[in-house]
Amino acid sequence: MKKIAILGSTGSIGTQALDVIKQHPDQFQAHTLTAGSNAELLIKQAREFKPDTVVIANEDKYTTVSQALSDLPIKVYAGPDALCQVVESTQIDMVLTAMVGFAGLRPTIAAIKAGKAIALANKETLVVAGQIISTLCTTHKVPILPVDSEHSAIFQCLNGEACNPIKRILLTASGGPFRSSTLAQLATVTAKQALQHPNWKMGAKITIDSATMLNKGFEMIEAHWLYNVKPHDIQIVIHPESIIHSAIEFNDGAVIAQLGTPDMRLPIQYAFSFPYRLPLQGKRLNLFEIGTLHFEQPDAQRFPCLQLAYDAIERKGNMPCILNAAGEITNAAFRNERISFLQIPQIIAQAMEQVDFIPQPTLDDLFQTDAITRQITESIISNH
Ligand code: NAD
Ligand code: MG
Repeated sequence: MKKIAILGSTGSIGTQALDVIKQHPDQFQAHTLTAGSNAELLIKQAREFKPDTVVIANEDKYTTVSQALSDLPIKVYAGPDALCQVVESTQIDMVLTAMVGFAGLRPTIAAIKAGKAIALANKETLVVAGQIISTLCTTHKVPILPVDSEHSAIFQCLNGEACNPIKRILLTASGGPFRSSTLAQLATVTAKQALQHPNWKMGAKITIDSATMLNKGFEMIEAHWLYNVKPHDIQIVIHPESIIHSAIEFNDGAVIAQLGTPDMRLPIQYAFSFPYRLPLQGKRLNLFEIGTLHFEQPDAQRFPCLQLAYDAIERKGNMPCILNAAGEITNAAFRNERISFLQIPQIIAQAMEQVDFIPQPTLDDLFQTDAITRQITESIISNH
């Protein structure tokens, strides 16, 4: 029985992870569930899955959660520090990091230091602190099992290939809701339109990042750290059907890909069950139904966030952290209709110029960079 802590159990990845656990009650147990502020759903999940512990990050919701669960033997905590403490429980085997944004960094580090296997959905952790996280994982002998569908695909393609270097990664991207929009159309798109992703139903932040393709930039950085492949050897391939989840090319030219219907429960379950494959209910791939698969080059002019991500990882240091923080602030500002879609990359680029560059940042430097970048990005937005 694998005991799993789910950080962000009320989100898109979190709820799908609970569905996987429900399909395999003899294999997996939800030991700890945590949420940001959705007390109602956290309570409902706790009553159904009977975890050992729950945490609500928003302290104002503590009484609501603890009172609602007072008839059950479930430990209830609140606040961001509690997230870092609960993952250290000796009973936990694996921590699924399914919370969104920079907030995932501290609990992920706490889990690694406690020696827990990490099922990583929170890509922001690797974007912000890839070097530090990689070193920590080596020191504490902790594996990272990727949950992001592309990185899970690469991971699956690498099975049995330990002695063969990767020549190139083909990182597929749906292209998002605005794949075929002109630059003139992009100037006036709304958050509501951007939130309609053609293939995946995800949380709001990553859905907007998919529309700007900043998400794909983050995934390129994530792949760089997970698989030690140089950024310019990671090619982004627009593939609107989201059937090929990514591929790798070897020295002899062989390209190995992983295919399937777009369903995040597969990569989540594979991270839980690796190296075993378990049955999973859901739609199966039917190539005759799909008929044709398409591939396109990404367009740097319409989606400048991609190049910003390549620039950030080429410069290294705290630059990817600046990219991430400016990305989080502009993402929220666009959702709140404070800035337009095309202003997102412009403002991120300005933040990347204005925040002080640190070539070899410590963890403290990264926390400071995050805070300063948020301030600077806010002031750029206010002065627009
Ligand atoms: P979501 O917004 O649906 O859910 C986020 C979860 O984190 C919720 O449970 C929320 O309560 C919790 N949370 C938010 N802020 C918090 C905070 N400050 N402290 C504690 N908890 C907090 O997001 P999602 O789409 O499930 O994405 C989660 C992560 O997984 C992101 O890093 C995303 O990039 C990654 N990811 C998601 C998908 C997907 O299909 N949704 C695919 C690949 C990767
Ligand atoms: Mg992905």
